[in-house]
Amino acid sequence: MSTRGKPFKACRKCRSLVDKKVEICPVCGSREFTEEWEGAIIVIDPGRSPVARELGLEAPGRYAIRVI
Ligand SMILES: [Zn+2]
Repeated sequence: MSTRGKPFKACRKCRSLVDKKVEICPVCGSREFTEEWEGAIIVIDPGRSPVARELGLEAPGRYAIRVI
């Protein structure tokens, strides 16, 4: 599946998915984003989510599973 045309871009540092017009990552403060990402996960309670632990996600939010 093509990654083009997605409504979000992913932070290169923490993989948070943000709107394309956002310039600073609300999770980690990074300014580096990529539109080349795959899969998405919504984390509500990182401490209780095995997937969030596996991906190293510490804050609730929407994340890309893989950043290319
Ligand atoms: Zn980030």
